[in-house]
Amino acid sequence: MINIIDKLHQKHALTAEEYRSLLLCEDTETLGYLQKKAQQTTLARFGNAVFIRGLIEISNRCRNNCLYCGIRKSNTMVSRYALSRETILRCCKEGYELGFRTFVLQGGEDVSQTDDWIVDTVFAIKKEFPDCAITLSLGEKSLTAYQRFFEAGATRYLLRHETFNEAHYQALHPSEMNRDHRLLCLRWLKIIGYQTGTGIMVGSPGQTIDHLVEDIQFIERFQPAMIGIGPFIPHADTPFANEPAGSIELTLKLLSIFRLMHPSALIPATTALASLSPDGRERGILAGANVVMPNLSPSSVREKYTLYNHKAAFGSEAAEGLKLLEEQLNKIGYKISYLRGDHN
Ligand code: SAM
Repeated sequence: MINIIDKLHQKHALTAEEYRSLLLCEDTETLGYLQKKAQQTTLARFGNAVFIRGLIEISNRCRNNCLYCGIRKSNTMVSRYALSRETILRCCKEGYELGFRTFVLQGGEDVSQTDDWIVDTVFAIKKEFPDCAITLSLGEKSLTAYQRFFEAGATRYLLRHETFNEAHYQALHPSEMNRDHRLLCLRWLKIIGYQTGTGIMVGSPGQTIDHLVEDIQFIERFQPAMIGIGPFIPHADTPFANEPAGSIELTLKLLSIFRLMHPSALIPATTALASLSPDGRERGILAGANVVMPNLSPSSVREKYTLYNHKAAFGSEAAEGLKLLEEQLNKIGYKISYLRGDHN
């Protein structure tokens, strides 16, 4: 097994069978070796500095009905909101003063936030904060819309493929959504020139080891600039309310595999990881992550953007908790980087 890890470290690729055996491996020493190699790779490439991104959750309205997601259209228990452009700019200002140089605008697919509105919002942020990077995570849009957002100044886009396996994708989503269209959007984003991020939920209902191998091989081919992986966590008002959460250990193992596969990738220690375990974020960083995304949304709406239960949005998961974050990072030998942190 050590040979396989060394091969991944050197060649950045394995066969499907090798990935499979790594995913099934439970030997503590071997997994410690995998994590050590991934951590060394991150340190060699980025040093001990972790990039921060200010996450602004701009709307919890969504036209989609993804079975796992707490803000799905059919969930009538959600108190819906959408931030105004002025509020978003205020969040950016607050973030800028705290030292953030990347703003991530994430939200449901809210039809009231039209393409024109998004273009004008990106443009307004860029005008006021020209030295900052703007990342969008607003789901599936038309090719023209993606092009217009890019021209307005957004240079990064996060769109998880969620699962590469077609049947599994269909088990997680309503029939109006399909995997091929999701993949097409990802190709468009890359062709336009975005630093494109994709990723998966680990332990989503019905997920098998073979599905994960397909996900890994897709990410190996696609070469995303950013890789977002976090455990699935159930939400009480979704069809998956009674499904178990994904495993932290498997999430960390995948994180290390992705680091060895793509040494230059920007890989967040996700909020979902921090929500499942109090030291989840630190464990993510020690497994090879190099980004954290503290919450910059107005505190009044944070509880409403509930993708899953017990989501962390305060303390060191919050933008105003940067000092606490710095202390936690220092304890494991890391520090915050206040640079934009673009992908090379
Ligand atoms: N609408 C955009 C999209 O589809 O990419 C962005 C918002 S969406 C809520 C952001 C991500 O949240 C999804 O890609 C999904 O992986 C994650 N997510 C949703 N529900 C989740 C859950 N129950 N557990 C863990 N992650 C979840």
